Amino acid sequence: MTNIKTNIIGLSRDEIKSKLIESDLIKSDESFRVKQIWHWLYFHGVTSIDDMTSISAQLREELKKVFSLQRPNLDKEQHSVDGTKKWLIKLSDGNLVETVYIPEDNRGTLCVSSQVGCTLNCKFCHTGTQKLVRNLTTEEIVSQLMIARDQLKDWPANENRKISNIVFMGMGEPLYNYDAVKKSVQIFSDPEGIKLSTKRITLSTSGIVPQILEWGNEVDTVLAISLHATNDDLRNEIVPINKKYPLQKLIQACRDYPRSRNSRRITFEYVMLKGVNDSLADAQALVDLIEGIPAKINLIPFNPWPNSPYECSSNNQIKKFGDFINDAGYSSPVRKTRGQDIMAACGQLKSDSIKVKKSLRRLEI
Ligand code: SAH
Ligand code: SF4
Repeated sequence: MTNIKTNIIGLSRDEIKSKLIESDLIKSDESFRVKQIWHWLYFHGVTSIDDMTSISAQLREELKKVFSLQRPNLDKEQHSVDGTKKWLIKLSDGNLVETVYIPEDNRGTLCVSSQVGCTLNCKFCHTGTQKLVRNLTTEEIVSQLMIARDQLKDWPANENRKISNIVFMGMGEPLYNYDAVKKSVQIFSDPEGIKLSTKRITLSTSGIVPQILEWGNEVDTVLAISLHATNDDLRNEIVPINKKYPLQKLIQACRDYPRSRNSRRITFEYVMLKGVNDSLADAQALVDLIEGIPAKINLIPFNPWPNSPYECSSNNQIKKFGDFINDAGYSSPVRKTRGQDIMAACGQLKSDSIKVKKSLRRLEI
């Protein structure tokens, strides 16, 4: 019998239990063992099975034969002058993903990636220019948080933790990796481990309409929609997935999102591109488009990257645009640009995935 250890990070409680039963380590009525292991993993953040000290030494030895508890390797850590930190993580197949920590006065947000690269090619986004794309596994998504907490010395997961919020705004389109992202959220929000309520987790999507409602019904995190344009002509050009799921369908999905029907706000993200989508007529069109949806509009100053085809709108124009939307009754904060000096700001993430083998060509989704 080959003895390949299973990495325990990313497994659900049920999967851990089945594995323990299958390996003759517990009986089916011994769920408390799973609870104990889970607590060590996700509340205390142990990096070795030996550290699970409430479990007998004998059982720990047996556990070590079945499970590994290894994080992917940290390739590089960068610190911005504004306190933002970026980690470049090397996955077991050599691919690289980026994770960003953004500390603020009253919270700390971890921006996680859901894919290596992204297939969607939004025109203003650096990630979209990356050649190689693949979905991340649950283990790889959850490990981003584990590594960040290790580096920030942010265990155990108690009230004073540095990472208080998670946003799926790193590399990739999370709804194209639905199952793994869903399972990660279930692990992040488990009340006996990491304990981050779904109110503190935001899924950002470029608008994969069929999965938006499914997500709302099954997981129901905070939802952010990368809108960026208010008519199909422009959106087709800058967010090409719009050709498949045009604005009218996208907006209808937002109206139907369960949180929205419960009067909780959806966030619309709107990147400010000089002379492209930043006129007051655009602001009026935006207000008209989302009429009746409980919403907040996050204005994101465009973050440039090498040879990017756009310029950011002037501060003055962003302010005028924001004031217009605010006067129409919507909160319209301008997202502070964070970590630009380490290329960690929105849309700047791109890892050099070299070695493009035939078998690893871009996913056809
Ligand atoms: N793929 C998902 C989540 C990742 S992108 C999505 O598109 O929603 C997170 C946010 O950053 C999105 O709103 C995205 O449109 C925005 N963004 C991408 N490139 C940007 C850039 N260069 N400057 C500012 N925001 C950008
Ligand atoms: Fe992908 Fe989001 Fe970038 Fe578009 S903005 S290319 S969906 S990561």
